[in-house]
Amino acid sequence: MADNRKNNFNSNSKFGAPKDGDDKMVKKIRRPQKRKVCLYCADKTIGKDYIDYKDVGRLRKFVTEKGKIIPRRMSGVCAKHQRELTTAIKRARMMALLPFKAE
Ligand SMILES: [Zn+2]
Repeated sequence: MADNRKNNFNSNSKFGAPKDGDDKMVKKIRRPQKRKVCLYCADKTIGKDYIDYKDVGRLRKFVTEKGKIIPRRMSGVCAKHQRELTTAIKRARMMALLPFKAE
């Protein structure tokens, strides 16, 4: 009887093994993310009053190749500067400095 119980316990532990592996997989997927700092907050000289729409070189960092504005969660820009950034990018589009949509 005692031997049977031991066997059952062993088989259970074997079934439990892949679950542990799954937990490790989850840990592997979740990687520590670097805290992104807002580019305009870091450099006080750029976005003091408003973000310049003529500063195309810097605005291009926040636009995809297709011309879409990169979301805040991706770029790490703070809420205040993201708002100013969108208006700046939209102004730059109107002045044909940035594309509305790239082919
Ligand atoms: Zn900011």
